[in-house]
Amino acid sequence: MGSTVHSDETLNSMHVFMVSFPAQGHVNPLLRLGKQLAYSGLFITLSAPESVGSKIRKANNITDDEPVRLGRGMIRFEFFNDGWEINDPKRHDLDAHMAQLELVGREKLKWMIRKQDEMGRRVSCIIINPFIPWVSDVAESLGIPSAMLWIQSCACFSAYYHFYHNLASFPSEKEPEFDVELPFMPSLRYDEVPSFLHPRTSYPFLRRALLGQFKNLSKPFCILMDTFQELEEGIIEYMEGLISTPIKTIGPLFKKEKNIISSQSIRVDFMAAENCIKWLDSKPLKSVVYISFGSIVHLKQEQIDEIAFGLLGSGVSFLWVLRSPHVVPLGFLEEVGDKGKIVQWSPQEEVLGHLSISCFVTHCGWNSTMEAVASGVPVVVFPQLGDQVTNAKFLVDVFRVGIRMCRGEDEGRVVPRDEVERCLRGATSSLEAARMKENAVKWKKAAEATVAEGGSSYKNMQSFVDEIVRIGIN
Ligand code: UDP
Repeated sequence: MGSTVHSDETLNSMHVFMVSFPAQGHVNPLLRLGKQLAYSGLFITLSAPESVGSKIRKANNITDDEPVRLGRGMIRFEFFNDGWEINDPKRHDLDAHMAQLELVGREKLKWMIRKQDEMGRRVSCIIINPFIPWVSDVAESLGIPSAMLWIQSCACFSAYYHFYHNLASFPSEKEPEFDVELPFMPSLRYDEVPSFLHPRTSYPFLRRALLGQFKNLSKPFCILMDTFQELEEGIIEYMEGLISTPIKTIGPLFKKEKNIISSQSIRVDFMAAENCIKWLDSKPLKSVVYISFGSIVHLKQEQIDEIAFGLLGSGVSFLWVLRSPHVVPLGFLEEVGDKGKIVQWSPQEEVLGHLSISCFVTHCGWNSTMEAVASGVPVVVFPQLGDQVTNAKFLVDVFRVGIRMCRGEDEGRVVPRDEVERCLRGATSSLEAARMKENAVKWKKAAEATVAEGGSSYKNMQSFVDEIVRIGIN
């Protein structure tokens, strides 16, 4: 990738300032985008609140404001304090936390960006991710164009857009079990609609945060999406026609990054990943089930116990990301022996690319979804909330690479061990498993093609770089 027509000098003088909401699933795709832009010659700053900055620094050996060369460009990190102590209990109240972040962030970011100007590193473009739409206001007040990286599927983007503009009917207090019809999508059962849109959602603050982005949608000059044309055909074209802000699909960001070998050491994990690759190396081809529920989902201990017994019953080998306060049942580890491994945080991208992996039991966060799809790994879907329930629907019924273990936390049930066992057997050693693998490999090839020279994501990324240069020069 890269804008061959521009000189290194021109590209290096283009400073793209990225601001991330403080969540793992937000920082990861923004960094991936940042690395690609740096690789093609731009000067990148990745900024996020100090609440996650302190974790990132510790886990990944990152030093603030130390630009690192990457390809033809550079990347640096700069974290900012949101005015609260890291361990302030007020952070648990997300509504209050969001308000504080905005209140302090508006001033801090202005100051940080002006400082870059004084240092001779004038910012040409600001890129944000969802939940912090006010950064587009900051950009506007400074006269700097901004873009947004949408980090969920285009299908979910469409659902939020239709909801916000009242363009379709959604579940209501009166009809909570209303199924939703949206253009170019299969009918979404009421529990397959992004759960924050439900009138009885337990997370109204997340609905507010997401919809806030749609209120400010005319501010960005471009909406980048971590998805690709072939994966969400129809939906993307439809949304491009519906909204005036241009959409550029540039995913899977993870796939392209895999090719930038020199960038692998630049990471933003909140916890250091445990080395489990050697252990995977010792396992036969397609023999290990990888289990991870991302960085936020918290299952009941009772559910963890049932998964543990389901694993034992199925007899499969597994790599399981499991953190305290969760524990496995007494005697579990002894019984499993070398057949299973538990880690607190894994190098997931590497794990999914490992030849020993047979399938992925996932909560269906969009990053995990794209990583699985782009790695050609079939899935067992275990969604809980938000867009996860919609992603699960697409993985099973549209992409046809998954089987279902649960429908979401609103189901209000613990999936019992025999069901866990049945799903694991189904995903690893049935006719269905072979069909899913075939489809998964098809998507992996499509993902490779879209980021390769001439592919749609490749071209969109290149035209985005060109646009930044054009903006920066004017
Ligand atoms: N991840 C990881 N190691 C783990 C678990 C997760 O590196 O042990 C990464 C994963 O690759 C993905 C991100 O954390 O990029 C999680 O994002 P996702 O959207 O899947 O879920 P969220 O955590 O936002 O619910």
